[in-house]
Amino acid sequence: MNTLNQTALNQLNNNLEYFKLNAASPLSNWVNGKLYAGQGENISLLNPVTNLELTVYSDAGPNLLDKAVKAAQEAQVKWQSLTASQRGRLMLQAIAGLQGHEEQLAQLESVVSGKPIRDCRAEVEKVREMFEYYAGWCDKLHGQVIPVAGSHFNYVRHVPYGVVGQITPWNAPMFTCAWQLAPAIAAGNAVVLKPSELTPFTSVVIAKCLEQSGLPTGLINIVNGLGHTTGAALTNHPNIAKLVFVGSPSSGKSIASAAASRLVPSVLELGGKSANIIFADANLNNAIPGAQAAIFGAAGQSCVAGSRLLVHESIIDTVCNKLADACPNIKTGLPSDPQTQMGPLQNAAQFKKVNSMIAQALEDGAILVTGGGFPQELPKDASNGYFIEPTVLRNVSPNMQIACEEVFGPVLVVMPFSSEEQAISLANGTRYGLAGAVWSQDTARAHRVAHQLRAGTVWINSYKTISVMSPFGGFGESGYGRSSGLAGLQEYTIQQSVWVETAEESTVAMGYGAG
Ligand code: NAD
Repeated sequence: MNTLNQTALNQLNNNLEYFKLNAASPLSNWVNGKLYAGQGENISLLNPVTNLELTVYSDAGPNLLDKAVKAAQEAQVKWQSLTASQRGRLMLQAIAGLQGHEEQLAQLESVVSGKPIRDCRAEVEKVREMFEYYAGWCDKLHGQVIPVAGSHFNYVRHVPYGVVGQITPWNAPMFTCAWQLAPAIAAGNAVVLKPSELTPFTSVVIAKCLEQSGLPTGLINIVNGLGHTTGAALTNHPNIAKLVFVGSPSSGKSIASAAASRLVPSVLELGGKSANIIFADANLNNAIPGAQAAIFGAAGQSCVAGSRLLVHESIIDTVCNKLADACPNIKTGLPSDPQTQMGPLQNAAQFKKVNSMIAQALEDGAILVTGGGFPQELPKDASNGYFIEPTVLRNVSPNMQIACEEVFGPVLVVMPFSSEEQAISLANGTRYGLAGAVWSQDTARAHRVAHQLRAGTVWINSYKTISVMSPFGGFGESGYGRSSGLAGLQEYTIQQSVWVETAEESTVAMGYGAG
């Protein structure tokens, strides 16, 4: 018997039971205020620590999806008729409903996703923050008065779309769920959200807790299933008025074309190949831990991962030596251990992809600075798990696959530059544009370089700090549209311009009017 898998099964079943999702097949959908089992094919979830089965659930399928859209349509009408302050108060009341259940939610996420428990606890905290932030916006989403010529009074309103469809990935299931749910409902919409088929449960729990604590029934619906079944049914549903997608660029293209074919707008939050630039005058005591956190946090399964380290040629040996010394100290281990900094990759396909990209890089001439294999210190029962050591490669040229493609794993490539111009050109020499960073003690240079990076988020002497208050999104193939901040809220509204005649006698004329 594999003891680690038995412990994981107990952890999963206890937490499913705690949230009343347990049944012969887990109740993996939240539709119109009720839990439902799916109606489609079986989906097996494997334990990232052991590669053994954890549970099986059923794909929601198109009929349940349709029921979710109908419920959302009805709930949205009622939700929109509330005052803005009432909506804000209900959002605050609803998020308070998660209180006391944080640890169970974190445990449920950790066992399914393989994420270290301490990261899952932090993610639950982000869920709370996002709802509190957008609850505060409900009664501050003001319209505008436009000083038009003539006798008309013209004002602009922010109108919700109606029912929005959201699709999220497996690397940050709770974060991405709350990230999109909160602004959508704050703006007056209802939602049907499909999480990744690999991490189905925590979004259901969040929706259930929120609705049972104050949000109207049917306002948030979670349907679980595969991309080409339930996901496609959602993107093609005629009553979905906007699509918001968080995931890979290849799926993003399918979603954008499905949206375009119905003339429905979309927001795409996609992958990246972000550059982390260390100048010779950087404080290496900060830059080295910064470079490690940038790539090895979440085992590199982070959209903003700083996967390309560009280092001034005069210090590249020093930086590589320091990384070789420091990386083996990253605590790689079981997700359930509170000390673990890096757990396994989430799934078998990703594990295979990352290992094959490392092998290809070595074949292409890259040199291993550190890592590249399976961590030694793991228990025997985890020997088939999806673990990869923190890996650093040098002697990498910009056109190698490892330098161009998103790895989405704990793999850092280090490349030299000789001038500021070359650093900028290398950093921007990618079809992505999600994030980047500059490490330098020369403030003028740091800003100058930051402003020239074609990336949606840029850090100076830092990495990975994000806030729901500040807009986030991509350039290029990292996507379009913005999430977080006011920009993230505005994505969920359409502007309506209203014209009121103030003159006693009508000024309506043939042609294009008086303006
Ligand atoms: P993915 O594209 O494989 O899947 C994402 C979601 O899309 C899943 O729910 C999946 O079922 C669904 N899906 C796939 N094809 C579909 C289709 N044709 N129609 C409808 N739905 C479909 O991505 P993933 O592997 O789950 O996630 C990793 C990717 O997500 C990485 O590229 C990462 O950088 C990106 N990501 C981006 C951000 C961001 O904010 N920019 C955040 C997290 C992850």
